[in-house]
Amino acid sequence: MKRTIFEVILALALIGAGAFGWTNLKGNQKATAQLTELQAASEEATKTVGEKEAAIKAAEEEMSALREEMVPLESQAQQLAAVKAAMANGATLADLEAAYKSQKTLSAERQVGLGALRMLTKGADDPVAVESFRKALKASELGDRKNTICAAQIGLAAAGEKIAILPECLPKSAKGKADKGEKAGAEEKDGHSKDDGHDHGKDGGHGKDDGKGAPEKKAVHWSYEGEMGPERWGKEFPTCAKGKSQSPLDIRGPFVKTRTVITTDYKEGPLKMLNNGHTIQVNVPAGSKLRIDGIAYDLLQFHFHRPSEEKIDGKPMAMVVHFVHKNAEGKLAVVGVLLKEGNENPGIKTLWANMPMEEGPEVTPEGVNFNPANLLPREFDFYSYEGSLTTPPCTEGVRFFILKSTVNVAKEQVNAFPFKRNARPVQELNGREISTN
Ligand SMILES: [Zn+2]
Repeated sequence: MKRTIFEVILALALIGAGAFGWTNLKGNQKATAQLTELQAASEEATKTVGEKEAAIKAAEEEMSALREEMVPLESQAQQLAAVKAAMANGATLADLEAAYKSQKTLSAERQVGLGALRMLTKGADDPVAVESFRKALKASELGDRKNTICAAQIGLAAAGEKIAILPECLPKSAKGKADKGEKAGAEEKDGHSKDDGHDHGKDGGHGKDDGKGAPEKKAVHWSYEGEMGPERWGKEFPTCAKGKSQSPLDIRGPFVKTRTVITTDYKEGPLKMLNNGHTIQVNVPAGSKLRIDGIAYDLLQFHFHRPSEEKIDGKPMAMVVHFVHKNAEGKLAVVGVLLKEGNENPGIKTLWANMPMEEGPEVTPEGVNFNPANLLPREFDFYSYEGSLTTPPCTEGVRFFILKSTVNVAKEQVNAFPFKRNARPVQELNGREISTN
């Protein structure tokens, strides 16, 4: 128990020093004070002399390493002072909590950020805040010091604070800047939502946040293998198991002839992409459209699966791109473009050069534009059926159009995709019709 308290205080000291200690850096008074605190805590926390010394030594090492890291960061002190001032009245925390409230799931990073913010606002005396932060930290596997600081910075940036994120906290291959000033929860407010109603937007699928220490309420996490693999999704997301119109499908005849016509009008725009822990996703600026028999659907985002989730006559392709659209009534339509191993794909080359290899917030590489049409084949013949999101919560009512024409992707490009396998297995047809034009 005391050991736990010590760990919490250590984490708190690190977060506090990492994110805010820089404001009082002259002379490192703050860090010193924290070190004293740490030592006091360790004295309390450890009974034997040996343990005590080891704990103090470890704490000292942590703090001195931290001091070294602080030096180049002094220039950020003023920004951080502004952040601190903004937080003093709890308004930032209240904003963030309100923004997150409407979200069904919160990524581990956001939980950590929120937890850190609660502690920094309410102080370490609030046991709920401390405990929730500790659990979030554990759930996110952000154990080490750097990651803790990164999590705090990402959390603050997500809270809309204009702080500079340390370069090493940014996704490895992100050449541009992370979206610093973006308000957390902008997805909900922004009409052209990136998290809204597509199959990968749900923020890493982590725990529900009820606004006061969510992680202990059961962190809902899912993955493509192991304990939270596709066969188990139904435990937390009932539609995944009980739904009768699930995606993806093994597409095979007989087919029903349809006269439906689809056309696309995709526009070039600034590249915005993220690694959400389940896929690489490109968020598309407003203006790109799909028309189904003349009815307009906005392209929200597109993302990748490896191998393709869809099978044609039992065979998967190397990958698939899912273009996710929504019409004015909220109906979703996904266009799937199968990627077949062959020549290098120039569009993917641009994307891969900018994709974040690690899970994290959206990045906007400077000066890079992209037109999603670069990933489309010339012909638009399709197979179509009524299906679902292919990731939790597996919501149904999604119209799928799987294009018959494939586009090429080089083997090296497939191998460079950071997810070895992120494809849900094919689902039962349950009497659904598959149509073709
Ligand atoms: Zn998908």
